Amino acid sequence: MQNKDTVADTTLSQQSFNDNQLPLVIGVDLGGTQIRTAVLRGPTLLSRVSLMTGKTPSPDRIIPRTYTAIQEALGKAGTTIEQIAGIGISAPGPLDSKTGVIFTPPNLPGWDHVPLRDIFTEHFHIPIFVENDANAAGLGEHMFGGGRGINSIVYITISTGIGGGVIIDGKILEGVSGTAGEVGHMTIDWHGERCTCGNIGCLEYIASGSGIARKANEAIHAGQGIELLTFARTMLQHSSTVANPLALPTQGHDPATVELRFPPMGTGDTSPGSEASSEQPEEEHLHVNARTVALAAEAGIPLARAIIENAAEAIGVGLVNIIHCFNPEMIILGGGVTQMGPMLMERALRVVQERAMKVPREAVRIVQAQLGDNAGLVGAGALIYYHSKQ
Ligand SMILES: [Zn+2]
Repeated sequence: MQNKDTVADTTLSQQSFNDNQLPLVIGVDLGGTQIRTAVLRGPTLLSRVSLMTGKTPSPDRIIPRTYTAIQEALGKAGTTIEQIAGIGISAPGPLDSKTGVIFTPPNLPGWDHVPLRDIFTEHFHIPIFVENDANAAGLGEHMFGGGRGINSIVYITISTGIGGGVIIDGKILEGVSGTAGEVGHMTIDWHGERCTCGNIGCLEYIASGSGIARKANEAIHAGQGIELLTFARTMLQHSSTVANPLALPTQGHDPATVELRFPPMGTGDTSPGSEASSEQPEEEHLHVNARTVALAAEAGIPLARAIIENAAEAIGVGLVNIIHCFNPEMIILGGGVTQMGPMLMERALRVVQERAMKVPREAVRIVQAQLGDNAGLVGAGALIYYHSKQ
């Protein structure tokens, strides 16, 4: 999927000496399960401190703990808040990046119209910017990752859900309400099933990790998945001794990193119910996750192949729509599902070759994200550089 020229270009540009002259910033990646904070200079993490959001992630509980994590990150990096140019916060949408108010994100129960930017400004007295997580990650890729030096990119992350960030002519496309770039909720199958967003046949519903897992489990419950189920059971029995070849990238091991507590890695593309499977492999209602489906597809199990090929085709159609709507120079794909191997991405790219209009198709490069697990933090920090240029 990724041509070699692209890799070489990116490697060279990442060595740009200009990064060393950038001011220090703080990135905060506010997620549904964990909050990460880091002191950064450009794409370089000088320190990182993470904490779990816990079962009741109310603002009253989370915000003071985030302040503490930031102080720890500053200490680890050997610096103080006075040396910091600003704090960028990547948060789940919907939110208004102009006012820094977070509305009612499904991933953060208990949050309702929280004026996060003003709250942080009152505490730290330095510039604070809040951006939706997919836009921030896209900005990170645009400024410091695979899209460096490229002004029109669309970033898509395909994991549990599907998110997107659109940067056209160097500017994040926000839309009038700040919800532009929701590529996961474009309609792929208008005769399809109802998505959690209210629309029908969304890309996310069909092709996300949870969409893939749901399809597999529905087939199993309908009695069509005996072969897949046997494969999943065998995999679980071996999972403690055999390394998972499709594991997602692990956390960085930079010595300045402090991990207060990390969740188990590699579950980014699974459905919520899939966690039970590792505890009770012999349970009758075993839930199969997206990674298991991908492995079963590679092993030639017909049901799994059909599910992966269906998701791949949906992603391909989604890419065609994006190419037609935005005429981007680059589409950057992140998230665990895009690392599922050639069966998924090659088929998706074939759909692009077969269906997209010639002119925009020939203008676009489709590459993998470069920032990996730190995309949220680098993107959050990048908000400071981005807004200082605007
Ligand atoms: Zn939807």
